[in-house]
Amino acid sequence: MSDADELQVLNPATEEVVATVPAASEQDVAAAVARAVRAQTGWAALAPADRARLLRRFADTVDAHTEELARLEVREAGHTLGNARWEAGNARDLLHYAAGGAERLLGRQIPVPGGWDVTFQEPLGVVGVIAPWNFPMPIAAWGSFPALAAGNAVVLKPAETTPLTALRLAELALAAGLPEHLFQVLPGHGHIAGRALVDHPDVAKIVFTGSTRTGREVMERCARLVKPVTLELGGKSPNVVFADADLRTALDPFSFLDNSGQDCCARTRILVQETVLDEARAFLADALAAVVVGDPADGKTQMGPLISAAQRDRVRSYVPDGAPALRGGAPDGPGFWFPPTVLTGERHDSPAAREEIFGPVAVLLPFTDEQDAIRLANDTPYGLSGSVWTRDLGRALRVSQAVRAGNLSVNSHSSVRYWTPFGGYRQSGLGRELGPDALTAFTETKNVFISTEGPAQ
Ligand code: NDP
Repeated sequence: MSDADELQVLNPATEEVVATVPAASEQDVAAAVARAVRAQTGWAALAPADRARLLRRFADTVDAHTEELARLEVREAGHTLGNARWEAGNARDLLHYAAGGAERLLGRQIPVPGGWDVTFQEPLGVVGVIAPWNFPMPIAAWGSFPALAAGNAVVLKPAETTPLTALRLAELALAAGLPEHLFQVLPGHGHIAGRALVDHPDVAKIVFTGSTRTGREVMERCARLVKPVTLELGGKSPNVVFADADLRTALDPFSFLDNSGQDCCARTRILVQETVLDEARAFLADALAAVVVGDPADGKTQMGPLISAAQRDRVRSYVPDGAPALRGGAPDGPGFWFPPTVLTGERHDSPAAREEIFGPVAVLLPFTDEQDAIRLANDTPYGLSGSVWTRDLGRALRVSQAVRAGNLSVNSHSSVRYWTPFGGYRQSGLGRELGPDALTAFTETKNVFISTEGPAQ
């Protein structure tokens, strides 16, 4: 996309222009941060119960607009309607959960001689959130809502391809009665508005979700200001399927096709015990052929388009013509389509097996035994997610302890709940979002010692 001061939002299923929004300049970011600094002071001074009440009202307002938000997500991101409805509901539910956290942001009392010692969790100030395009609404919410509940102001930069649901959430926050400028959304280019947010001295923390490459740059720039950062980055997650597993559930193709594979938790390395490899291949061939790919606004559609032509080209580069693969179908004509694909001729060290493709493409790789499965599962620079499938409970426990990733599922492909912690090991990120400690990540801990000995005479 160009550096022009307008962003064109395209419907990825039709390539039609959905909206045009102004792109924030460095000066716009500076002005927004200055407004946020003022708004935060008043917000932090409110009683926790009053902050909680306003956030619950915001949740109710989102609830009243879930269908509108979902339809907007379908248009700007090409998500299926079912997914988009879940995403709007996720934003609403997280608001309720975070609101409760505002009233439970507890300190501690620590026994010490000569007095009392207490800790306080104080808000950081202004938090900058940089969101990607793959789950525009939930990821904007995960970074922003716990930060607000902990008493911070938020300036959010959405991805330039998908700013619309975030902008609408900010309008709904105002309609619900949240103070002006407390939750600001600034669409813009990453290398202009994103960098300006990261470099601004009055932004106390950055929450970044996106590629490992950009995340590394964000972390380097934050280091210059000793600014804390939470990073949610890429993944290349394993789906470890032992021969005793229920293959039909374990090999559910939506473990990597959900959101057209544009999911950092997608299980894109399908590791199957070699004794059932042929059976797995036959099952996957049928399952891919049955996937309904098409208009995401149609309730029967299971998989929509990719976000952009650039992303489709990137995905295509991993699937050369004639590569051994199982393939489903995809529409022709306008839209950024790519068929569900499982590559069957890859080595575990080939680019398609090691790099995050971020499309509906997985690799199928055999393993021999438990040790081999663990070795292959961990043979990646990433460590975000993964699944382990076996009926042997002891083996399930051993493997889930041995795999180095932040979010594992045993006999399930679930990853994200707003009330459990989410984040990655190694190059998948730094820090955790969501879960019971979500608000603490947006606070400083202050320790205060109070002498009981009285002033010296
Ligand atoms: P990026 O990591 O570049 O973008 C994520 C967000 O960061 C966007 O809002 C982007 O803005 C912003 N940004 C870009 N450059 C900077 C910068 N220098 N400083 C601050 N913010 C910046 O991802 P891409 O959109 O380029 O996607 C490329 C690949 O990244 C994908 O193919 C996928 O593999 C991976 N990815 C992983 C995600 C995940 O959740 N793990 C999410 C998205 C992408 P802008 O929109 O203007 O570029």
